[in-house]
Amino acid sequence: MIFMDIFTLALIIVFAIALILFFLRIYTLYKYFRIGRNINRFDHAGKRFLFMLYDTLSQACSRRHKNYYPGFTHFIFFWGFILLFPSIMELILGPIIGFSWEFLGTPLYQALFFAQDAIVVLIVVALAMAFYRRYVIRPYYIENSFDALLILILVTIIVITITGYKAFQIAIAGTYPAYMPLSLFFANLVRNVPDKTFWLYFFYWFHLGTILFFLVYIPYSKHMHLIASFPNIFFKNNGPRGELSYVDLEKSEKIGVNDIRDLTWKDYLDGISCTECGRCTQNCPAYQTEKPLNPKNVIHTVKYSLFHNAPLILEGKNDTVPLISEKQDHLSITPEELWACTTCGSCIEHCPVYNEHLQKIVDMRRYLVMNEGSMPNELADAFKNLERTGNPWGFPSVKRGSLAKSKNIKTFKEQKAEYLLFMGCMGAYDSRYRNAVEAFIEILNKCGISFATLGNEETCCGDMARRSGNEYLFQTLAKKNIDAMKKYGVEKIITMCPHGYNTIKNEYPQLGGNFKVYHYTEILQMLLRDGKIRLKSSGERAVYHDPCYLGRYNGIYDAPREILEKCTYLLELEKSRTESFCCGGGSGRFLMEEKGKRINEERGRQIVEKGVNLVAVACPICMLMLEDAMKSLHREDISIKDISEIIFKNIEINTQKDEII
Ligand code: SF4
Ligand code: SF4
Repeated sequence: MIFMDIFTLALIIVFAIALILFFLRIYTLYKYFRIGRNINRFDHAGKRFLFMLYDTLSQACSRRHKNYYPGFTHFIFFWGFILLFPSIMELILGPIIGFSWEFLGTPLYQALFFAQDAIVVLIVVALAMAFYRRYVIRPYYIENSFDALLILILVTIIVITITGYKAFQIAIAGTYPAYMPLSLFFANLVRNVPDKTFWLYFFYWFHLGTILFFLVYIPYSKHMHLIASFPNIFFKNNGPRGELSYVDLEKSEKIGVNDIRDLTWKDYLDGISCTECGRCTQNCPAYQTEKPLNPKNVIHTVKYSLFHNAPLILEGKNDTVPLISEKQDHLSITPEELWACTTCGSCIEHCPVYNEHLQKIVDMRRYLVMNEGSMPNELADAFKNLERTGNPWGFPSVKRGSLAKSKNIKTFKEQKAEYLLFMGCMGAYDSRYRNAVEAFIEILNKCGISFATLGNEETCCGDMARRSGNEYLFQTLAKKNIDAMKKYGVEKIITMCPHGYNTIKNEYPQLGGNFKVYHYTEILQMLLRDGKIRLKSSGERAVYHDPCYLGRYNGIYDAPREILEKCTYLLELEKSRTESFCCGGGSGRFLMEEKGKRINEERGRQIVEKGVNLVAVACPICMLMLEDAMKSLHREDISIKDISEIIFKNIEINTQKDEII
């Protein structure tokens, strides 16, 4: 391939301009990123790098959660770019330095060009699917922006022009390369076209111009994610998903986030990595029930706020737009949006680029509560009660240990034991949930498990306070529990509530509380496996509702199912395991008024559709919310039972041994 010098010069100039514009934008973004707070995400760099390679090269990121349709198109576009990249290199570097892939040797060279022809066909299929999805199916969670259309048009131009260029190249050379069947097919069609050299140049420059325009356009558009998602996956949160960030209350001048500078550079990276796939929106229970919250907008607001405010900050101006405002626009989030979140974690679970929506929401709640004293009235009351009595309803703290006492369960003060049974607020005070706790206590007693409680020295685990933004209250409550646990040398803890499980296991270590924590379903699974209990099957058709804080946050999906399969005819809800739909009660939402469609009723409808009479739960909040839903839906014939209650009913007693087996 020999071009006249003037073309080589033009090529060098155009290529250089494109590179300069590209790197200027990257440099500008780098300056923006420097205004954010620092966060250490450089640990285990090798492991991070390998995961990034695996996730991107396999495109597992876009296929997760059975997203096969968009997963396929992304897979083809991604590998299309990888396979066409050598061609692009040859087109640019060939005329400048005589670069060619021929040095690979004939078999590899021909394999590469065959693969390029094949991927072009697949890209055409993927393009047709992408256009069909965007403009015919039109999923509600995808916006048909000009940006998105432009990218599809550019990809279309790229495949047409590369094919046209190769066809005229073959036609002019008069060769018949069988290893390029697509290009050869078109070459045969154009062999008799006049002015073939003109068309060769036409397709060359059109192709190259589009590629270079693409290169410059990417970092200025929403398609920045094509670059940013690689580092975003590298820097993803590798800690427990259920762990919120620690705040040093003594050293922090400002708690929470209301200004773009309060966020970290990783939060900015989340913003520019967003692919706008809308999966977080599609799976958000708040959005699904017409609340003002859309998790995608939380991520986008960070991005738009960065692009708006960072230049002002760098110029030393003070008129920046705050992140929280009563006025809803693309630069700010309203308090109403922030309080609508149930902290179910579904947005994080479904994001293909591992964006961290929830930490941002909680950080903004922290600002509202800790700096402005602003929160919904129900939360203000709950905080006061938690401060006074250690439970959100204001029941006397001296009654906390009454259930355990009535069952003759010793406290750690009275007797050391292998396990601490952490009752939790619902376990200690809720008259309905006490049945579940009693059933579990009976099972532990019959199996001879050594356990005790903290009695009245236990207080709320602090989960609700922390997720509602009251970091001070969380730390106060958590420290009180940790002190009591340490005082009695507690090592192993069983919790009934998944919220307590998550907080004690994943967040107490931030405050020096390191314990081995079990959810009670894990203990039941252990007793079952050890043959200490045996279950008879009632044959009842049942479903299990996965609590967000047990499943999505802590990956416990199998223990409850393993137990339930032994004593019921267990069916799966359509939305289960990682896809489970929240009951609507997390982060104190169970205490708050809910406007419009109710999340628990939506979950209730999903259960009703399944046609079962028994719903197994493993969380006191889920029990409360789902029982309430069944009442509202006039389906009280569907019973909501805790797993411990179901197990207790179906345990077989070995009378010979006089023990439960
Ligand atoms: S945590 Fe749940 S409720 Fe909150 S934004 Fe994410 S998906 Fe929506
Ligand atoms: S935040 Fe994640 S899930 Fe939501 S639209 Fe962006 S890439 Fe998709």
